[in-house]
Amino acid sequence: MENGGGGKKAWNFKTNVALETAGNLTIRGILNEIMSKLDVEDKRPVIPLGHGDPSHFPCFRTTPVAEDAVISALRSGKYNSYSSTVGILPARRAIAEYLNRDLPYKLSPDDVFVTLGCTQSIEIVLSILASPKANILLPRPGFPYYEARAAYSGIEARHFDLLPERNWEIDLDAVEALADENTVAMVVINPNNPCGNVFTYEHLAKVAETARKLGILILADEVYDHLAFGSNPFVPMGAFGSVTPVLTLGSISKRWVVPGWRLGWLVTSDPNGILKENKIVDSIMSYLNISSDPATFIQGAIPQILENTKEDFFNKTIHVLRQTADICYEKIKEIDCITCPHKPEGSMFVMAKLNLSHLEGVDDDIDFCCKLAKEEGVIILPGSAVGLKNWLRITFAIEPSSLEDGLGRVKSFYQRHAKKK
Ligand SMILES: *Cc1c(COP(=O)(O)O)cnc(C)c1O
Repeated sequence: MENGGGGKKAWNFKTNVALETAGNLTIRGILNEIMSKLDVEDKRPVIPLGHGDPSHFPCFRTTPVAEDAVISALRSGKYNSYSSTVGILPARRAIAEYLNRDLPYKLSPDDVFVTLGCTQSIEIVLSILASPKANILLPRPGFPYYEARAAYSGIEARHFDLLPERNWEIDLDAVEALADENTVAMVVINPNNPCGNVFTYEHLAKVAETARKLGILILADEVYDHLAFGSNPFVPMGAFGSVTPVLTLGSISKRWVVPGWRLGWLVTSDPNGILKENKIVDSIMSYLNISSDPATFIQGAIPQILENTKEDFFNKTIHVLRQTADICYEKIKEIDCITCPHKPEGSMFVMAKLNLSHLEGVDDDIDFCCKLAKEEGVIILPGSAVGLKNWLRITFAIEPSSLEDGLGRVKSFYQRHAKKK
């Protein structure tokens, strides 16, 4: 094959087709599209209610304890080398102790793998579970990185609903109906992104029983651990580890508001050793041998961060989130075209239903978010991005005054586009 003149052979390189589906499934892609609609002439500040990274707002600044821990780890000169692939021992021990505070049994450092944020924990799990014909049960609405990773690994994704009329509890009948002999796991996100609910102890007990009955693993995404500010306290899925084996996924990204530090964990919450028996632990270690580790000095800072952070810092974050969740819920009530089935009580998000029959000239959730960005400079994530068409996912983890400003602009948008009676 000749390529033009010059007698050159055609290029041999081709790209991985698995990326064509996987790469289009992310929240970032959709938000970039919506942000491209912003009107550059509009001099008001853009209000970002789309993605959940509050780290640049002063009221969500991390604790000096964490900053000092990183500085002293770095200055000590002890953490300039490569990490072991599973993570350095002091970090693994500190993470085990941190999680043990809420568990009825004791994790050991060997149960803990230090990862590049919860994102890498998801990557690892969905890579090691990718046996031929495997399928995985994912929540709808959910966190699209799971869909993207499943697509990339060639695992079939099957969806069960979270039920708005039951405070977003898992439809466990649907879980049973979906599962077959090739189902490897189900994902439970608690506190929940995108719905903002916190599952009760009783519901989690039922989830554990269901998984046991089906012989599947539970992937407990607890990246929002302890970010609960309503009546249901946060209960780790690992509390049911003796009923059914659990892989717990977490990080310091959300509770300490430092997503850029890229420090997370993958933990076998499995006092009966079932995961070890079934080669899950070996597979995790093999996968870690072919991937990269978080910066060693961040790992070195982890014991101080987890042990020395004061309750004051956590209480302050919870206080702000409770306040902004209230503002969000109350302001949405004033906007007829969107309704929120429950006041958010955890994480940083809420799902609100868009009622298109109240609107003129708006086709669907994506059209709503694009026009809202263009006319009002407010960014909201269309529900389609998380699997629920004609809903909206709104984050309330921003400065209270900006949130009020943003939702006020949504109201003006509605008033301009309201269907004439
Ligand atoms: C933010 C988030 C993650 C990723 O966490 P990182 O620690 O930043 O990698 C995973 N799962 C859910 C549900 C999240 O919201």
